[in-house]
Amino acid sequence: MITGNCLCGDVRYEIEGRISSIWLCHCSKCRRATGSAFHASAVCDGDRFRFCSGEDGIREYEDTPGYVAAFCERCGSPVPRQLRGTEFVFLHVGQLDGDPERSVDHHIFTGSKAPWFEICDGKPQFDEHKPRPE
Ligand SMILES: [Zn+2]
Ligand SMILES: [Zn+2]
Repeated sequence: MITGNCLCGDVRYEIEGRISSIWLCHCSKCRRATGSAFHASAVCDGDRFRFCSGEDGIREYEDTPGYVAAFCERCGSPVPRQLRGTEFVFLHVGQLDGDPERSVDHHIFTGSKAPWFEICDGKPQFDEHKPRPE
């Protein structure tokens, strides 16, 4: 079981089994939403994800249609949310406890990354989204 929570601990959740591999998104929206160089992202199946507490205190902000940020109303931390039209829950990997036994697979939106951050891990980089396999 993988567990995670927001900064204040009001929003707690658990994931049964594994999460997807991790990708780092360098787009300007993720940089603004996190205040950092990138967002560490992963997903899990919705039927293996469960909020344990704090779900009532989750607020959503929609930027452009499709970019939705869910956050804890008390501490402002981003929190997981169901991806519209899919069975997946979008995760904030930095918020998980312990070792999720996954590592970074690739970088996306490196075409708009912060100029002050250098990517040196040798993982694949994509200017925008990772192209879907043919
Ligand atoms: Zn919180
Ligand atoms: Zn992004």
